[in-house]
Amino acid sequence: MMSSSHFFTDREYKTVFFETFGCQMNKLDAELSLGLLQEDGYRIVDKVEDAYVVLFNTCSVRQHAEDKVYSHLGALKTLKKKHPEVIIGVLGCMAQKDGKAIFKRMPHVDLVCGTRMFSRLPELILTIRNHGSHVLAVDEDQVVSVKRVAAYRPNAYQAFVTVMRGCDNFCSYCIVPYVRGREISRTISDIKEEVQSLVSNGCKEITLLGQNINSYGKGLPGNVNLGDLLSALEDVDALDRVRFVTSHPADMSRDIIRTISRLKKVCEHIHMPAQSGSDRVLGLMRRGYTSGYYRELISFAREHIPHLAVASDFIVGFPGETEEDFQETVQMMEDIRFQNCFIFKYSPRTGTKAAELIDDVADEVKRERNLKLLELQKRISLEENKKVLDKKVQVLVEGGSKSDPGKLSGRTRQNHIVIFRGTPDLAGKLVNITIQEVTDLTLFGKLAKG
Ligand code: SF4
Repeated sequence: MMSSSHFFTDREYKTVFFETFGCQMNKLDAELSLGLLQEDGYRIVDKVEDAYVVLFNTCSVRQHAEDKVYSHLGALKTLKKKHPEVIIGVLGCMAQKDGKAIFKRMPHVDLVCGTRMFSRLPELILTIRNHGSHVLAVDEDQVVSVKRVAAYRPNAYQAFVTVMRGCDNFCSYCIVPYVRGREISRTISDIKEEVQSLVSNGCKEITLLGQNINSYGKGLPGNVNLGDLLSALEDVDALDRVRFVTSHPADMSRDIIRTISRLKKVCEHIHMPAQSGSDRVLGLMRRGYTSGYYRELISFAREHIPHLAVASDFIVGFPGETEEDFQETVQMMEDIRFQNCFIFKYSPRTGTKAAELIDDVADEVKRERNLKLLELQKRISLEENKKVLDKKVQVLVEGGSKSDPGKLSGRTRQNHIVIFRGTPDLAGKLVNITIQEVTDLTLFGKLAKG
């Protein structure tokens, strides 16, 4: 550990601690940032006290996520007093949202870097080292183009690839359009090149990432859409599987669904947040569709894509949500029988339209409704998973099971987690597993004969 009079070599300066919060897009931005810093000679350390650059990649989707980062920053005040040369940076959505207000609240923070500026991290850190503190980089219009360091990723066989950034939907409760900016899509050739480099580096499964991936292609020449992108990846040799997240029902076209039904590599799993089963609440949320439209879309998708698994998101306790509204959400979950759902309690986000509404659903009621939907989904997931008992499923082996040492884990094309006994050399391979036991979250089985 450094002493206050210590003179720093380049090598010591180039140590970075990086903590990321929030969604898959943030995790991928962290991976891209660390790849860049590594290329610039940085060593990644896993303890704050071993680093000269301490970075937090932040999330603003709920107040709680921001409070957590501010408490981390508060805790670094002493370290900064003792070692003023240490560089502390805030990246991501909270940096984009709060900007220079972070310097006011936490004067010991040196860098505030927004959601579209992380590709300049090495240069921004150098600026602080050479010219001193309080560098603000929150330009919204910057096109994010980061040369991916294919070798640097947390999982050898799977990778996320950003295909577009930002969102133009402005759902009334959501902060994303204010912190991630307007929708901008990468070209199909750019994405395909990145996918090919990942596949040549051993990747078997690619998940395409976009806050509102169904509007991929908007603004690109030639009127391309998500269907065209998925079709373009169908001929990438050695790529086994393609997934995509996150879909917005109003932007999911029947054409895209028909295209998916013709493609072999696109997995039969769609994550399509419904958010509520009540038309009145969907209107207040400015989601742009009705529960009837949503139900028809899911039926159409299930009709055209055999064995399709659908996951969803729901928000409980939105301002004005009555017991009747809530019961319509319960009914939608009962009728559609999702493979799994993420359930959230409404939390107002300053700056969003919904924040202007009175948050009149009591916390106790929010908790109750949240629990009811979690229990309902747990029952439905278990019943649906029982349907694959004694069946053979294709699994991409990810490696050793985190929950069950000595066993392997992987995923089906429907995104089920599968645990089974096997040898480590199966990692990265597609195997058939006969399912013998299930819970609401996991399938357990054995390697199928032949
Ligand atoms: S589509 Fe998703 S990311 Fe976009 S505003 Fe709505 S909830 Fe937010």
